[in-house]
Amino acid sequence: MSTTLDTPREVRRAVYKDNPNRVWCLPEIAMVIHRPDKVKADYDGLRVISLVEKEIQAWDPENKDCPYCKVGSIAYEPKTNWGKLIV
Ligand SMILES: [Zn+2]
Repeated sequence: MSTTLDTPREVRRAVYKDNPNRVWCLPEIAMVIHRPDKVKADYDGLRVISLVEKEIQAWDPENKDCPYCKVGSIAYEPKTNWGKLIV
């Protein structure tokens, strides 16, 4: 699962940087769930292939612009709160 593609990009960067052999990566990234804030055909030269792709808006917790928090919704981290999120 990826939202920003930061992790796949960082993995590629680390593989290129620390591999003593010449490395070549395909321009595609495959994942099960891709949830960007805006679906694009191309992400700075990378193409995402996913089973599920859905635009999901996320707000910075430090930034108080989230419209759901403004009306009293409680923000839960999904990794430790699946029981509260799946009803
Ligand atoms: Zn919020």
